[in-house]
Amino acid sequence: MCGFISIFGPAESDAIHDVLNGLLAIQHRGQDAAGIVTFRDKFQAKKGLGLVREVFQDKHLNRLRGPLAVGHVRYPTVGLGEDTDVQPFWLDYPVGTAMAHNGNVTNFHELKRTYFGQRNIHLGSNCDLEVVLYVFADALMRRAADPITVQDVQAAVHEVFTRVKGAYSVVGITSQGMYAFRDPFGIKPIIFGKKVTPEGTWYAVASESVVLDVSGYEVVRNLKAGELLWIGADRVPQFVQVANQPHRPCIFEYIYFARPDTFLDETSVYEARMELGRRLGRAFRATGLGADVVIPVPESARTAAQTMAEELGLPCREGFVKNRYVGRTFIMPNDKARRDSIRAKLNPIRAEFEGKNVIILDDSIVRGNTSRQMVKIARQMGANKVYLASYSPPLLFPCPYGIDMSTKREFVARGRSHEQIAQELGADMVLYQTIEQMVDAVRTAGNGKLEFCKACFEGSYPTGDITESMLSDIEQDRIAAGTA
Ligand code: AMP
Repeated sequence: MCGFISIFGPAESDAIHDVLNGLLAIQHRGQDAAGIVTFRDKFQAKKGLGLVREVFQDKHLNRLRGPLAVGHVRYPTVGLGEDTDVQPFWLDYPVGTAMAHNGNVTNFHELKRTYFGQRNIHLGSNCDLEVVLYVFADALMRRAADPITVQDVQAAVHEVFTRVKGAYSVVGITSQGMYAFRDPFGIKPIIFGKKVTPEGTWYAVASESVVLDVSGYEVVRNLKAGELLWIGADRVPQFVQVANQPHRPCIFEYIYFARPDTFLDETSVYEARMELGRRLGRAFRATGLGADVVIPVPESARTAAQTMAEELGLPCREGFVKNRYVGRTFIMPNDKARRDSIRAKLNPIRAEFEGKNVIILDDSIVRGNTSRQMVKIARQMGANKVYLASYSPPLLFPCPYGIDMSTKREFVARGRSHEQIAQELGADMVLYQTIEQMVDAVRTAGNGKLEFCKACFEGSYPTGDITESMLSDIEQDRIAAGTA
Protein backbone atom coordinates (compact mmCIF):
# COMPACT_ATOMS: atom_id res chain seq x y z
CA MET A 1 0.00 0.00 0.00
CA CYS A 2 1.50 3.31 -1.05
CA GLY A 3 0.42 6.84 -1.85
CA PHE A 4 1.00 9.02 -4.89
CA ILE A 5 0.41 12.46 -6.34
CA SER A 6 0.84 13.95 -9.74
CA ILE A 7 0.54 17.63 -10.62
CA PHE A 8 0.34 19.66 -13.82
CA GLY A 9 0.58 23.35 -12.95
CA PRO A 10 0.54 26.47 -15.15
CA ALA A 11 3.48 26.80 -17.56
CA GLU A 12 5.69 29.00 -15.39
CA SER A 13 4.79 27.38 -12.08
CA ASP A 14 6.67 24.98 -9.83
CA ALA A 15 4.57 22.03 -8.70
CA ILE A 16 7.00 20.96 -5.99
CA HIS A 17 5.28 22.75 -3.11
CA ASP A 18 1.91 21.13 -3.74
CA VAL A 19 3.54 17.74 -4.20
CA LEU A 20 5.38 18.04 -0.93
CA ASN A 21 2.28 19.21 0.91
CA GLY A 22 0.38 16.33 -0.60
CA LEU A 23 2.98 13.73 0.32
CA LEU A 24 2.86 14.91 3.93
CA ALA A 25 -0.93 14.48 3.84
CA ILE A 26 -0.59 10.84 2.80
CA GLN A 27 2.44 9.92 4.83
CA HIS A 28 0.21 7.36 6.61
CA ARG A 29 0.11 5.33 3.36
CA GLY A 30 3.83 4.64 3.50
CA GLN A 31 6.64 5.65 5.83
CA ASP A 32 9.42 3.61 4.35
CA ALA A 33 10.59 5.82 1.48
CA ALA A 34 9.60 8.91 -0.49
CA GLY A 35 10.42 10.42 -3.85
CA ILE A 36 9.58 13.24 -6.23
CA VAL A 37 10.37 13.68 -9.92
CA THR A 38 9.69 17.00 -11.67
CA PHE A 39 10.04 18.14 -15.26
CA ARG A 40 11.20 21.41 -16.75
CA ASP A 41 13.49 20.86 -19.73
CA LYS A 42 14.66 17.65 -18.07
CA PHE A 43 13.60 15.22 -15.35
CA GLN A 44 14.94 16.03 -11.90
CA ALA A 45 14.58 13.57 -9.05
CA LYS A 46 15.07 13.25 -5.34
CA LYS A 47 14.29 9.95 -3.68
CA GLY A 48 15.32 8.34 -0.44
CA LEU A 49 14.53 6.01 2.42
CA GLY A 50 12.63 7.53 5.31
CA LEU A 51 9.80 9.93 6.00
CA VAL A 52 8.95 12.81 3.66
CA ARG A 53 10.36 15.31 6.17
CA GLU A 54 13.62 13.39 6.31
CA VAL A 55 14.11 12.89 2.58
CA PHE A 56 13.55 16.43 1.30
CA GLN A 57 15.61 19.48 2.22
CA ASP A 58 15.58 23.04 0.90
CA LYS A 59 18.43 22.36 -1.52
CA HIS A 60 16.34 19.67 -3.21
CA LEU A 61 13.32 21.90 -3.50
CA ASN A 62 15.36 24.54 -5.31
CA ARG A 63 16.43 21.95 -7.84
CA LEU A 64 13.05 20.26 -8.37
CA ARG A 65 11.58 22.82 -10.74
CA GLY A 66 8.77 22.80 -13.24
CA PRO A 67 5.01 22.58 -13.58
CA LEU A 68 4.95 18.79 -13.95
CA ALA A 69 5.66 16.57 -10.98
CA VAL A 70 4.97 13.15 -9.57
CA GLY A 71 5.52 12.08 -5.95
CA HIS A 72 5.27 8.87 -3.97
CA VAL A 73 5.41 7.50 -0.43
CA ARG A 74 6.22 3.83 -0.13
CA TYR A 75 5.04 0.96 1.96
CA PRO A 76 6.87 -1.99 0.44
CA THR A 77 4.79 -5.06 -0.35
CA VAL A 78 7.06 -6.34 -3.11
CA GLY A 79 10.82 -6.37 -2.90
CA LEU A 80 13.15 -5.88 -0.02
CA GLY A 81 12.55 -2.20 0.51
CA GLU A 82 15.90 -1.14 -0.92
CA ASP A 83 16.73 2.30 -2.22
CA THR A 84 16.78 1.05 -5.81
CA ASP A 85 13.05 0.35 -5.35
CA VAL A 86 12.10 3.88 -4.32
CA GLN A 87 9.53 5.50 -6.62
CA PRO A 88 8.86 7.41 -8.81
CA PHE A 89 10.80 5.70 -11.60
CA TRP A 90 11.66 7.60 -14.74
CA LEU A 91 13.14 7.08 -18.20
CA ASP A 92 14.74 9.61 -20.52
CA TYR A 93 14.75 7.12 -23.39
CA PRO A 94 12.92 5.76 -25.45
CA VAL A 95 10.16 7.93 -24.02
CA GLY A 96 10.71 10.52 -21.35
CA THR A 97 8.33 9.65 -18.56
CA ALA A 98 8.20 9.45 -14.76
CA MET A 99 5.74 7.14 -13.03
CA ALA A 100 4.51 6.05 -9.60
CA HIS A 101 1.97 3.46 -8.56
CA ASN A 102 -0.05 2.08 -5.71
CA GLY A 103 -0.84 -1.60 -5.78
CA ASN A 104 0.65 -4.89 -6.72
CA VAL A 105 1.49 -6.59 -9.98
CA THR A 106 0.42 -10.19 -9.47
CA ASN A 107 2.32 -11.63 -12.45
CA PHE A 108 5.53 -9.70 -11.68
CA HIS A 109 7.65 -12.82 -11.27
CA GLU A 110 6.15 -14.44 -14.35
CA LEU A 111 6.80 -11.30 -16.45
CA LYS A 112 10.37 -11.22 -15.23
CA ARG A 113 10.76 -14.84 -16.35
CA THR A 114 8.93 -14.53 -19.68
CA TYR A 115 8.32 -11.10 -21.23
CA PHE A 116 11.63 -9.73 -19.97
CA GLY A 117 13.62 -12.89 -19.26
CA GLN A 118 13.20 -14.32 -22.74
CA ARG A 119 14.67 -11.15 -24.21
CA ASN A 120 17.51 -11.25 -21.70
CA ILE A 121 16.35 -8.04 -20.06
CA HIS A 122 17.28 -7.84 -16.40
CA LEU A 123 15.34 -5.44 -14.26
CA GLY A 124 17.20 -2.89 -12.22
CA SER A 125 15.01 -3.16 -9.13
CA ASN A 126 12.69 -5.45 -7.23
CA CYS A 127 9.85 -2.99 -7.57
CA ASP A 128 6.91 -4.14 -9.68
CA LEU A 129 6.40 -0.62 -11.04
CA GLU A 130 9.40 -1.23 -13.28
CA VAL A 131 7.47 -3.71 -15.44
CA VAL A 132 4.53 -1.30 -15.78
CA LEU A 133 6.92 1.46 -16.81
CA TYR A 134 8.73 -0.59 -19.48
CA VAL A 135 5.59 -2.04 -21.03
CA PHE A 136 4.05 1.46 -21.09
CA ALA A 137 7.17 3.11 -22.53
CA ASP A 138 7.66 0.35 -25.13
CA ALA A 139 4.14 0.91 -26.39
CA LEU A 140 4.33 4.72 -26.29
CA MET A 141 7.57 4.63 -28.26
CA ARG A 142 5.70 2.96 -31.13
CA ARG A 143 3.42 6.02 -31.63
CA ALA A 144 3.36 7.51 -35.12
CA ALA A 145 4.30 11.13 -34.38
CA ASP A 146 4.67 13.91 -31.88
CA PRO A 147 3.07 15.45 -29.85
CA ILE A 148 1.74 12.53 -27.80
CA THR A 149 -2.01 12.18 -28.24
CA VAL A 150 -4.60 10.65 -25.96
CA GLN A 151 -4.85 7.76 -28.45
CA ASP A 152 -1.14 7.08 -28.02
CA VAL A 153 -1.46 6.95 -24.25
CA GLN A 154 -4.61 4.86 -24.52
CA ALA A 155 -2.75 2.30 -26.65
CA ALA A 156 0.06 2.18 -24.10
CA VAL A 157 -2.33 1.69 -21.18
CA HIS A 158 -4.17 -0.99 -23.13
CA GLU A 159 -0.86 -2.80 -23.59
CA VAL A 160 -0.17 -2.49 -19.86
CA PHE A 161 -3.60 -3.88 -18.95
CA THR A 162 -3.10 -6.77 -21.38
CA ARG A 163 0.28 -7.83 -20.07
CA VAL A 164 0.48 -6.67 -16.47
CA LYS A 165 -1.99 -8.29 -14.08
CA GLY A 166 -3.00 -7.20 -10.63
CA ALA A 167 -4.38 -4.09 -9.01
CA TYR A 168 -2.41 -0.94 -9.56
CA SER A 169 -3.35 2.68 -9.99
CA VAL A 170 -0.74 4.73 -11.78
CA VAL A 171 0.17 8.41 -12.14
CA GLY A 172 2.85 9.81 -14.39
CA ILE A 173 4.23 12.71 -16.37
CA THR A 174 5.91 13.10 -19.72
CA SER A 175 7.63 16.21 -21.03
CA GLN A 176 4.26 17.15 -22.53
CA GLY A 177 1.67 16.33 -19.96
CA MET A 178 0.27 14.21 -17.19
CA TYR A 179 -1.49 10.82 -17.21
CA ALA A 180 -3.25 8.70 -14.63
CA PHE A 181 -5.00 5.37 -14.90
CA ARG A 182 -6.93 3.20 -12.51
CA ASP A 183 -6.66 -0.58 -12.54
CA PRO A 184 -9.35 -2.44 -14.53
CA PHE A 185 -11.34 -3.35 -11.38
CA GLY A 186 -10.74 -0.02 -9.68
CA ILE A 187 -9.39 -1.78 -6.60
CA LYS A 188 -6.95 1.01 -5.80
CA PRO A 189 -8.21 4.54 -5.23
CA ILE A 190 -7.36 7.53 -7.43
CA ILE A 191 -8.95 10.96 -7.48
CA PHE A 192 -8.66 13.96 -9.80
CA GLY A 193 -8.95 17.62 -8.84
CA LYS A 194 -8.14 21.13 -10.02
CA LYS A 195 -7.67 24.66 -8.77
CA VAL A 196 -7.67 28.01 -10.52
CA THR A 197 -5.17 30.65 -9.40
CA PRO A 198 -4.07 33.96 -11.00
CA GLU A 199 -1.22 32.00 -12.61
CA GLY A 200 -3.66 29.62 -14.31
CA THR A 201 -5.26 26.21 -13.80
CA TRP A 202 -3.57 23.46 -11.80
CA TYR A 203 -4.50 19.78 -12.11
CA ALA A 204 -3.77 17.13 -9.51
CA VAL A 205 -4.30 13.37 -9.23
CA ALA A 206 -3.78 11.57 -5.93
CA SER A 207 -4.51 8.45 -3.91
CA GLU A 208 -6.74 10.24 -1.42
CA SER A 209 -8.89 13.36 -1.47
CA VAL A 210 -7.02 14.85 1.54
CA VAL A 211 -4.16 15.61 -0.83
CA LEU A 212 -6.44 17.82 -2.86
CA ASP A 213 -7.88 19.47 0.27
CA VAL A 214 -4.58 20.53 1.78
CA SER A 215 -3.41 22.41 -1.31
CA GLY A 216 -6.74 24.01 -2.16
CA TYR A 217 -7.80 21.80 -5.07
CA GLU A 218 -11.44 21.00 -5.58
CA VAL A 219 -12.42 17.44 -6.37
CA VAL A 220 -13.39 16.92 -10.01
CA ARG A 221 -14.06 13.20 -9.64
CA ASN A 222 -12.69 9.74 -8.92
CA LEU A 223 -11.33 7.88 -11.90
CA LYS A 224 -13.50 4.96 -12.91
CA ALA A 225 -12.22 1.40 -12.94
CA GLY A 226 -10.05 0.94 -16.05
CA GLU A 227 -10.17 4.64 -16.95
CA LEU A 228 -7.34 6.78 -18.29
CA LEU A 229 -6.94 10.52 -17.79
CA TRP A 230 -4.54 12.35 -20.10
CA ILE A 231 -3.81 16.08 -20.00
CA GLY A 232 -1.51 16.97 -22.87
CA ALA A 233 0.12 20.15 -24.13
CA ASP A 234 -3.31 21.73 -24.81
CA ARG A 235 -4.05 21.31 -21.06
CA VAL A 236 -7.51 19.86 -21.70
CA PRO A 237 -8.33 16.84 -19.50
CA GLN A 238 -9.36 13.85 -21.64
CA PHE A 239 -10.85 10.67 -20.22
CA VAL A 240 -10.87 7.30 -21.98
CA GLN A 241 -12.37 4.04 -20.76
CA VAL A 242 -9.61 1.53 -21.55
CA ALA A 243 -10.98 -1.55 -19.77
CA ASN A 244 -14.54 -2.54 -18.92
CA GLN A 245 -14.67 -4.60 -15.77
CA PRO A 246 -16.89 -4.31 -12.71
CA HIS A 247 -15.73 -1.69 -10.20
CA ARG A 248 -14.52 -3.38 -6.98
CA PRO A 249 -12.75 -0.86 -4.70
CA CYS A 250 -10.83 -2.33 -1.77
CA ILE A 251 -12.98 -2.28 1.37
CA PHE A 252 -9.91 -2.39 3.61
CA GLU A 253 -9.17 1.23 2.61
CA TYR A 254 -12.28 2.23 4.59
CA ILE A 255 -11.45 -0.06 7.49
CA TYR A 256 -7.84 0.86 8.03
CA PHE A 257 -5.77 2.48 5.34
CA ALA A 258 -7.29 5.79 4.36
CA ARG A 259 -7.39 8.85 6.57
CA PRO A 260 -10.81 9.42 8.15
CA ASP A 261 -11.06 12.85 6.50
CA THR A 262 -10.70 11.29 3.05
CA PHE A 263 -13.49 10.49 0.62
CA LEU A 264 -12.95 7.40 -1.53
CA ASP A 265 -15.30 6.83 -4.43
CA GLU A 266 -17.60 9.50 -2.99
CA THR A 267 -17.79 7.69 0.32
CA SER A 268 -16.62 9.38 3.50
CA VAL A 269 -14.18 7.16 5.36
CA TYR A 270 -15.23 8.88 8.60
CA GLU A 271 -18.92 8.18 8.03
CA ALA A 272 -18.11 4.59 7.12
CA ARG A 273 -16.17 4.06 10.35
CA MET A 274 -18.96 5.70 12.39
CA GLU A 275 -21.47 3.31 10.86
CA LEU A 276 -19.18 0.32 11.40
CA GLY A 277 -19.00 1.27 15.09
CA ARG A 278 -22.77 1.58 15.42
CA ARG A 279 -23.35 -1.82 13.89
CA LEU A 280 -20.80 -3.49 16.11
CA GLY A 281 -22.44 -1.81 19.11
CA ARG A 282 -25.72 -3.47 18.16
CA ALA A 283 -23.97 -6.81 17.76
CA PHE A 284 -22.43 -6.48 21.20
CA ARG A 285 -25.82 -5.69 22.73
CA ALA A 286 -27.18 -8.85 21.14
CA THR A 287 -24.64 -10.95 23.06
CA GLY A 288 -26.36 -9.95 26.31
CA LEU A 289 -22.99 -9.27 27.96
CA GLY A 290 -22.45 -6.19 30.11
CA ALA A 291 -19.58 -3.73 29.74
CA ASP A 292 -18.52 -0.49 31.41
CA VAL A 293 -16.42 1.23 28.78
CA VAL A 294 -15.29 1.13 25.12
CA ILE A 295 -11.56 1.65 24.62
CA PRO A 296 -10.15 2.09 21.09
CA VAL A 297 -6.74 0.87 20.01
CA PRO A 298 -5.42 4.16 18.61
CA GLU A 299 -5.49 5.60 15.95
CA SER A 300 -7.79 4.01 13.40
CA ALA A 301 -10.35 2.58 15.83
CA ARG A 302 -11.11 5.94 17.48
CA THR A 303 -13.93 6.99 15.19
CA ALA A 304 -15.81 3.69 15.43
CA ALA A 305 -15.27 3.44 19.19
CA GLN A 306 -17.25 6.64 19.71
CA THR A 307 -20.31 5.38 17.87
CA MET A 308 -20.06 1.89 19.30
CA ALA A 309 -20.08 3.43 22.79
CA GLU A 310 -22.97 5.77 21.90
CA GLU A 311 -24.96 2.82 20.64
CA LEU A 312 -24.39 0.97 23.92
CA GLY A 313 -24.86 4.03 26.14
CA LEU A 314 -21.31 3.61 27.46
CA PRO A 315 -18.41 6.01 27.83
CA CYS A 316 -15.68 5.87 25.18
CA ARG A 317 -12.31 6.38 26.82
CA GLU A 318 -8.66 6.70 25.80
CA GLY A 319 -7.31 3.72 27.72
CA PHE A 320 -4.18 3.48 25.60
CA VAL A 321 -1.89 6.38 24.85
CA LYS A 322 0.05 6.01 21.65
CA ASN A 323 3.61 7.14 21.29
CA ARG A 324 3.57 8.29 17.68
CA TYR A 325 7.36 8.41 17.53
CA VAL A 326 7.77 4.65 17.74
CA GLY A 327 7.94 3.43 14.15
CA ARG A 328 5.85 0.79 12.45
CA THR A 329 5.23 -2.37 14.38
CA PHE A 330 3.47 -4.28 11.66
CA ILE A 331 6.54 -4.81 9.53
CA MET A 332 9.07 -5.72 12.22
CA PRO A 333 11.26 -8.71 11.35
CA ASN A 334 9.73 -11.17 13.82
CA ASP A 335 6.89 -11.60 16.27
CA LYS A 336 8.99 -10.90 19.36
CA ALA A 337 10.20 -7.58 17.91
CA ARG A 338 6.60 -6.74 16.97
CA ARG A 339 5.31 -7.50 20.46
CA ASP A 340 8.02 -5.44 22.14
CA SER A 341 7.41 -2.45 19.97
CA ILE A 342 3.62 -2.69 20.34
CA ARG A 343 4.17 -2.45 24.10
CA ALA A 344 6.50 0.51 23.64
CA LYS A 345 3.98 2.17 21.36
CA LEU A 346 0.80 1.81 23.44
CA ASN A 347 0.85 2.58 27.14
CA PRO A 348 -2.27 2.15 29.31
CA ILE A 349 -4.11 4.45 31.70
CA ARG A 350 -4.85 2.27 34.73
CA ALA A 351 -7.96 4.15 35.85
CA GLU A 352 -9.78 3.20 32.66
CA PHE A 353 -9.31 -0.54 33.27
CA GLU A 354 -9.28 -1.15 37.01
CA GLY A 355 -12.29 -3.17 38.13
CA LYS A 356 -14.11 -2.67 34.83
CA ASN A 357 -15.55 -4.84 32.10
CA VAL A 358 -13.87 -3.34 29.04
CA ILE A 359 -14.49 -3.59 25.33
CA ILE A 360 -11.23 -3.07 23.45
CA LEU A 361 -11.97 -2.10 19.88
CA ASP A 362 -9.55 -2.38 16.96
CA ASP A 363 -10.12 -1.95 13.24
CA SER A 364 -8.86 -5.44 12.44
CA ILE A 365 -7.08 -8.43 13.86
CA VAL A 366 -4.38 -9.82 11.60
CA ARG A 367 -1.76 -11.87 13.38
CA GLY A 368 -3.31 -11.00 16.73
CA ASN A 369 -0.14 -9.46 18.14
CA THR A 370 -1.75 -6.13 18.96
CA SER A 371 -4.87 -7.66 20.48
CA ARG A 372 -2.95 -10.17 22.56
CA GLN A 373 -0.85 -7.38 24.01
CA MET A 374 -3.85 -5.14 24.65
CA VAL A 375 -5.67 -7.90 26.50
CA LYS A 376 -2.60 -8.68 28.57
CA ILE A 377 -2.14 -5.03 29.50
CA ALA A 378 -5.83 -4.64 30.33
CA ARG A 379 -5.58 -7.55 32.75
CA GLN A 380 -2.37 -6.18 34.28
CA MET A 381 -4.25 -2.91 34.83
CA GLY A 382 -6.88 -4.77 36.82
CA ALA A 383 -9.66 -5.15 34.25
CA ASN A 384 -12.42 -7.52 35.21
CA LYS A 385 -13.72 -8.89 31.88
CA VAL A 386 -11.88 -8.11 28.65
CA TYR A 387 -13.92 -8.26 25.44
CA LEU A 388 -12.10 -7.83 22.15
CA ALA A 389 -13.99 -6.28 19.29
CA SER A 390 -12.97 -5.82 15.66
CA TYR A 391 -15.05 -3.63 13.39
CA SER A 392 -14.00 -5.74 10.42
CA PRO A 393 -14.61 -9.50 10.02
CA PRO A 394 -11.92 -12.13 10.57
CA LEU A 395 -9.05 -11.72 8.13
CA LEU A 396 -8.46 -15.10 6.53
CA PHE A 397 -7.03 -14.80 3.03
CA PRO A 398 -3.83 -13.25 1.66
CA CYS A 399 -4.18 -10.06 -0.33
CA PRO A 400 -2.29 -10.26 -3.63
CA TYR A 401 -3.23 -6.66 -4.46
CA GLY A 402 -0.89 -4.83 -2.12
CA ILE A 403 -2.37 -4.85 1.37
CA ASP A 404 0.39 -6.10 3.58
CA MET A 405 -1.00 -9.44 4.68
CA SER A 406 0.34 -11.76 2.10
CA THR A 407 0.87 -15.07 3.78
CA LYS A 408 -1.80 -17.45 4.98
CA ARG A 409 0.05 -18.45 8.08
CA GLU A 410 -0.19 -14.90 9.38
CA PHE A 411 -3.86 -14.94 10.28
CA VAL A 412 -4.79 -15.77 13.83
CA ALA A 413 -8.40 -16.39 12.78
CA ARG A 414 -7.50 -19.02 10.22
CA GLY A 415 -8.75 -22.46 11.22
CA ARG A 416 -10.06 -21.25 14.58
CA SER A 417 -13.58 -20.73 15.92
CA HIS A 418 -14.35 -17.40 17.63
CA GLU A 419 -14.05 -19.14 21.02
CA GLN A 420 -10.64 -20.48 20.05
CA ILE A 421 -9.52 -17.04 18.85
CA ALA A 422 -10.63 -15.51 22.15
CA GLN A 423 -8.70 -18.18 23.98
CA GLU A 424 -5.64 -17.68 21.79
CA LEU A 425 -5.70 -13.94 22.47
CA GLY A 426 -6.50 -14.31 26.16
CA ALA A 427 -9.84 -12.48 25.91
CA ASP A 428 -13.15 -13.36 27.57
CA MET A 429 -14.86 -12.99 24.21
CA VAL A 430 -14.03 -11.84 20.70
CA LEU A 431 -16.61 -10.06 18.62
CA TYR A 432 -16.20 -9.49 14.89
CA GLN A 433 -18.29 -7.51 12.43
CA THR A 434 -19.98 -9.78 9.89
CA ILE A 435 -19.13 -9.38 6.21
CA GLU A 436 -22.74 -8.36 5.45
CA GLN A 437 -22.76 -5.66 8.13
CA MET A 438 -19.36 -4.36 7.04
CA VAL A 439 -20.40 -4.05 3.41
CA ASP A 440 -23.71 -2.48 4.28
CA ALA A 441 -22.10 0.00 6.70
CA VAL A 442 -19.61 1.28 4.12
CA ARG A 443 -22.27 1.34 1.43
CA THR A 444 -24.57 3.36 3.64
CA ALA A 445 -21.84 5.98 4.03
CA GLY A 446 -21.70 6.39 0.24
CA ASN A 447 -24.19 6.21 -2.57
CA GLY A 448 -25.52 2.86 -1.37
CA LYS A 449 -24.49 1.00 -4.51
CA LEU A 450 -20.78 0.21 -4.31
CA GLU A 451 -19.61 -3.39 -4.55
CA PHE A 452 -16.21 -4.04 -3.02
CA CYS A 453 -13.14 -6.22 -3.21
CA LYS A 454 -13.30 -8.08 0.10
CA ALA A 455 -11.02 -10.93 -0.89
CA CYS A 456 -9.04 -10.81 2.38
CA PHE A 457 -12.23 -11.71 4.26
CA GLU A 458 -13.80 -14.23 1.92
CA GLY A 459 -11.11 -15.41 -0.49
CA SER A 460 -12.72 -14.63 -3.83
CA TYR A 461 -10.43 -12.48 -5.92
CA PRO A 462 -12.22 -10.09 -8.30
CA THR A 463 -9.54 -10.21 -11.00
CA GLY A 464 -10.33 -13.93 -11.34
CA ASP A 465 -6.75 -14.82 -12.21
CA ILE A 466 -5.09 -15.38 -8.85
CA THR A 467 -3.34 -18.73 -8.86
CA GLU A 468 -1.71 -20.65 -6.04
CA SER A 469 1.65 -20.04 -7.70
CA MET A 470 1.09 -16.25 -7.70
CA LEU A 471 0.18 -16.37 -4.02
CA SER A 472 3.20 -18.47 -3.31
CA ASP A 473 5.49 -16.07 -5.27
CA ILE A 474 4.15 -13.19 -3.20
CA GLU A 475 4.47 -15.17 0.01
CA GLN A 476 8.09 -16.07 -0.77
CA ASP A 477 8.77 -12.43 -1.51
CA ARG A 478 7.43 -11.36 1.87
CA ILE A 479 9.37 -14.09 3.63
CA ALA A 480 12.58 -13.07 1.81
CA ALA A 481 11.92 -9.46 2.82
CA GLY A 482 11.68 -10.64 6.43
CA THR A 483 8.21 -9.21 6.95
CA ALA A 484 6.19 -12.41 7.10
P1 AMP B 1 -1.99 -7.67 14.33
O1 AMP B 1 -1.34 -7.09 15.52
O2 AMP B 1 -1.05 -8.46 13.47
O3 AMP B 1 -3.26 -8.40 14.64
O4 AMP B 1 -2.41 -6.47 13.38
C1 AMP B 1 -3.53 -5.71 13.67
C2 AMP B 1 -3.16 -4.28 13.83
O5 AMP B 1 -2.41 -3.82 12.71
C3 AMP B 1 -4.39 -3.43 13.93
O6 AMP B 1 -4.20 -2.55 15.01
C4 AMP B 1 -4.46 -2.67 12.62
O7 AMP B 1 -4.75 -1.31 12.88
C5 AMP B 1 -3.08 -2.79 12.02
N1 AMP B 1 -3.13 -3.24 10.62
C6 AMP B 1 -4.05 -3.98 9.99
N2 AMP B 1 -3.71 -4.22 8.71
C7 AMP B 1 -2.52 -3.64 8.52
C8 AMP B 1 -1.65 -3.52 7.40
N3 AMP B 1 -1.92 -4.09 6.23
N4 AMP B 1 -0.50 -2.83 7.57
C9 AMP B 1 -0.21 -2.28 8.76
N5 AMP B 1 -1.00 -2.33 9.85
C10 AMP B 1 -2.14 -3.01 9.74
